Amino acid sequence: MSASTASRRPWAGWDFYEPTNRVGSTTIPTALAVAALAGAAAFVYQRITMWMPLIYVNFLIAGGFAAGIGWVMAEAFLKTHGRAAKMGAGFAAGAAVVAFAVSFQAAAVFTRPDIRGESEALKARLALEGEYELDEDAFEQFVSSFGIGDYIKMRQENGWTVGRPRGGLDLSGVMVWLVWLAELGILAGGAYFMAEKRLDRVYCEECRRFCDVVDVATIRHVPPRDARDAIRNGTIDDLLALPSTDRRAPPLNVQAHVCAKSCPAWLDISTVGPPSKKGESSSDVPLLTHAGVASATLRRIEERARVKADPPDTSQAPRRSKRPRPPDV
Ligand SMILES: [Zn+2]
Repeated sequence: MSASTASRRPWAGWDFYEPTNRVGSTTIPTALAVAALAGAAAFVYQRITMWMPLIYVNFLIAGGFAAGIGWVMAEAFLKTHGRAAKMGAGFAAGAAVVAFAVSFQAAAVFTRPDIRGESEALKARLALEGEYELDEDAFEQFVSSFGIGDYIKMRQENGWTVGRPRGGLDLSGVMVWLVWLAELGILAGGAYFMAEKRLDRVYCEECRRFCDVVDVATIRHVPPRDARDAIRNGTIDDLLALPSTDRRAPPLNVQAHVCAKSCPAWLDISTVGPPSKKGESSSDVPLLTHAGVASATLRRIEERARVKADPPDTSQAPRRSKRPRPPDV
């Protein structure tokens, strides 16, 4: 296989994809542009957040914004031949931090009308009492200079109210900082994981493109533990030779990253959905990730999934018991 691959993991018979971690000439500028875009979008994000004075809704909005930043950053890497997934995820988190910082400036700007309103009211009252001659320029400057520092101070004093206006929980002082910390965590973490997930792709250095991801087959009724052992100890043939004995076993989903016929395809195999038995680890479990195979092997996997789709019913027999299984018919 190509120079970019090596069997680093101690699994017999497999050749795993190793990313070169190279990026295209336009990857970094594009990533920086996305970070700037995230900063601009932070104004919209902050506006929506201030319209929704429910803190858990705000966290949901933060999660959505984070996912959006991660998605767009991953797109920037995919479009510009950036094969460094961790770097892409790092840029996504960085863009989220930029957005978080800009959201404070946005909050200060959006608070200015309130400050103006309150100041106008005070001004009117003082004028009525004849105690105060206002310097209009100084007043304008006072309102328009309301910035990040003032906003932070104001927010710390006023806090947020969680629940009903009366009898609700007041979050102020140090709690305000904890809320901001949580928001930062959601933004940066969410963007990182979204980008990392989307950039979990195979890049073919021969074809100079990211491979297409295709569904190859769903293998049913093979106990995941048997499948895992076969994969770790052997080759694809050991997996394909496994009998289909367990109707309740979660299906094995086989996907491949493919490009040209002459290039290797890269297999992903994972169990799908909730496990059949209590106590087993839940949801999708990857058994094999980005393992190189010839394209002919993909055909064999498809055949295997077709031929053994209807095994004998052994649902009465407990799995992995010491008792001998009834012989397969
Ligand atoms: Zn290729």
